[in-house]
Amino acid sequence: MGQLSINERIENARLATPLNGERPVSRLKVRSVVFLLVAVCLSMTIIVIWEAWSSRQYHLRDKEVAMSNLAQTLAWQAQASIKQADTLLLTLVERLENEGVDSARLPRMQRLLSVQRSELSQLHGLFVYDATGQWIANSNGAQVPNSNNADREYFIFHRDHPDLGPHIGPSIKSRSSGEWIMTVSRRVNHPDGSFAGVALATIYLNHFLGLYDSIDMGRNGVINLIADNATIVVRRPFTDADIGTSVANGPLFTQLLPKGNSGTARVKSIVDGVERVVGFRRVEGYPLIIFTALDKDEVLTSWRDESLLSAGIVALLLSFLGVLGYRLIRLMRQQNHIQSVLLDAQEKLLEVNHGLELLALEDALTGLSNRRQFDLFILAEMGRARRTQTHLALLMIDVDHFKRFNDLYGHVAGDLCLRKISAIIRDNIKRPGDLAARYGGEEFTVVLPGTDYVGAFLIAEKIRNAVKEAGIEHSEGVEGTVTVSVGVCAYDTASQDQPDDLVRAADKALYVAKASGRNMSVIAN
Ligand code: GH3
Ligand code: MG
Ligand code: MG
Repeated sequence: MGQLSINERIENARLATPLNGERPVSRLKVRSVVFLLVAVCLSMTIIVIWEAWSSRQYHLRDKEVAMSNLAQTLAWQAQASIKQADTLLLTLVERLENEGVDSARLPRMQRLLSVQRSELSQLHGLFVYDATGQWIANSNGAQVPNSNNADREYFIFHRDHPDLGPHIGPSIKSRSSGEWIMTVSRRVNHPDGSFAGVALATIYLNHFLGLYDSIDMGRNGVINLIADNATIVVRRPFTDADIGTSVANGPLFTQLLPKGNSGTARVKSIVDGVERVVGFRRVEGYPLIIFTALDKDEVLTSWRDESLLSAGIVALLLSFLGVLGYRLIRLMRQQNHIQSVLLDAQEKLLEVNHGLELLALEDALTGLSNRRQFDLFILAEMGRARRTQTHLALLMIDVDHFKRFNDLYGHVAGDLCLRKISAIIRDNIKRPGDLAARYGGEEFTVVLPGTDYVGAFLIAEKIRNAVKEAGIEHSEGVEGTVTVSVGVCAYDTASQDQPDDLVRAADKALYVAKASGRNMSVIAN
């Protein structure tokens, strides 16, 4: 029916509003922004941490390689320095064993040792001892009175070991010059293989220390030349107390050397407790190990500075991003709130509009369409009938002797009677396209699209009979009950142009019905 179409139009308008359904979308947008911000912050943090970690590994690895290279170079240097002295020793031992120690030859040997010593700057001295440890000859020329070296480690070693190879003993302070020296010695045998004495070359520790000190090892860096028996031969930084100290329990001997003759590692020193990046290598041909180490903390200083700087920059960027993001989210939330308030307001407005529209198009007393909607509807339907060449009919219904009814039963009963008649009219028009309206006072109209005058007459009669059958008492009515008269008119597109023409024709027919005794339906001619 016509009233439904109003509701539909309002519902359609409500559904068509663009704001509808935007609330969840907006919430989704805020969530996406939050998610995006958190994801960006997290990934940047992870990248910075990852970068810092790999840069740290790179720094340490770089220094490990540097320490390995340095160990190799210093091992070569140690080998070359010792080999030079050892070669002299070898010749000396051979001569002593072949020619024996003859007092007549001593001055010549003394001179020879002196010449040989002066050829090598690292050489502190060359010495020959007999089987009792007594000085036989030395490169310094002068004899030290009552000097017996039978108590020295190298002497005891050779006396007790038949081994003919070179021996490097713990570094000692020279009895002749008071300087720190390294001892390289070989055993001298009698022709029968028994112990005849010791040939000794002493090398200035300063020869090594001078080189070691010229290498930039930072404040806590260490270069160590260590004998095979784990005693320190030379150490940079140099302190008297370190010389001869055993590092047998240190990581070099317990962890590193068992795995190989050279390598790199990160270990904690047992001498000073400092953690270091180290390189080590055995000196080829001699029972020595060179050990180079940088303080891990110092190695990481530049890395730490770089990482702190980049972390600072990223933290600054992140906080900037955080502030921006926070503002953006706040703005979006505010916008959403405003949107939601607007949406609520719009919904309320639509409801009010709905009510107003109903009020504007509905008759308050009967609930049927009012005159205004009738006017709009009949105009639209006449247009459609004209365009589609379809039928259109109009009923004009008027309550008979209603003035009398009011006079007899009062206006309240009159109103109730009008409501009942309205309900009867509504019940008797079944098509959704039909429209029943209160035209004014006790007059009603029914617009019947797609219906010719025959169909319209039948409906008019149904309504008229139904009103009569309702049996609303009217003592001064046509038959003692309330009745209606109906004017029926079909739209003639040829002669009728305006709604008024149609209404007028229906009115005329109604007039005929009234004049003919009322309680009847009459078709306009
Ligand atoms: P007829 O059979 O010729 O139509 O006689 P009638 O008395 O119905 O005709 P008339 O037009 O003279 O009277 C119409 C009456 O309808 C006048 C008025 O008192 C009454 N009326 C109009 N509107 C209302 C209304 O809303 N409520 C009530 N109770 N009465 C109304
Ligand atoms: Mg009337
Ligand atoms: Mg009347």
